[in-house]
Amino acid sequence: TKFTDLKLDPKVLKAVTEAGYETPTPIQAQAIPEALEGRDVLGIAQTGTGKTASFTLPLITRLSRGRARARMPRSLVLAPTRELAAQVAENFDIYAKHTKLTKALLIGGVSFAEQDKLIDRGVDVLIATPGRLLDHFERGKLLLTGVEVMVVDEADRMLDMGFIPDIERIFQLTPFTRQTLFFSATMASEIERITNMFLSNPVRIEV
Ligand code: AMP
Repeated sequence: TKFTDLKLDPKVLKAVTEAGYETPTPIQAQAIPEALEGRDVLGIAQTGTGKTASFTLPLITRLSRGRARARMPRSLVLAPTRELAAQVAENFDIYAKHTKLTKALLIGGVSFAEQDKLIDRGVDVLIATPGRLLDHFERGKLLLTGVEVMVVDEADRMLDMGFIPDIERIFQLTPFTRQTLFFSATMASEIERITNMFLSNPVRIEV
């Protein structure tokens, strides 16, 4: 498979080429076509496999049409730690650089005021740690009813950190009709349980 065989938005393809990527990694080659078809994806993959692009590239492609409304993010990416969330945000900036898509990074240690301002303007992609996202939600600053795509990255670490109840709560705040892209390095029974509960006929990809 080549990147040009994947039906990515031309602007995304351009950014990928500029990033120097030549061929998709196995998780990318398998997950991107399914995600672009609108399917839920359960990816069992470690860091270093290229999994971030495997959800970010189809996400950007899907959102490239349409516009964000105030306080109603169009997509949500959850990561277990500030560092991982910040890494996803950096990746998003690289892959989305030729688009007009907007993002906000909701992590601890950044003032609420700054994050509120971005959310008020409307964001296409909200990248967050679960606790910080729920803090904003409880302050009445955002609605998740406009979420078209929800990504959960590194679910096994979320489990280790005790975030599964937060993740369940967040799933319940988003529409049933959302697309879900869910990644974990391992499939503990607790992870299996929430994927059974919240993913709809997912394609399971193990690399
Ligand atoms: P990840 O597993 O998402 O953390 O990605 C690991 C590293 O591989 C990151 O530094 C990416 O920029 C890089 N990367 C991802 N996909 C590709 C690709 N198809 N070709 C070359 N490098 C890539």
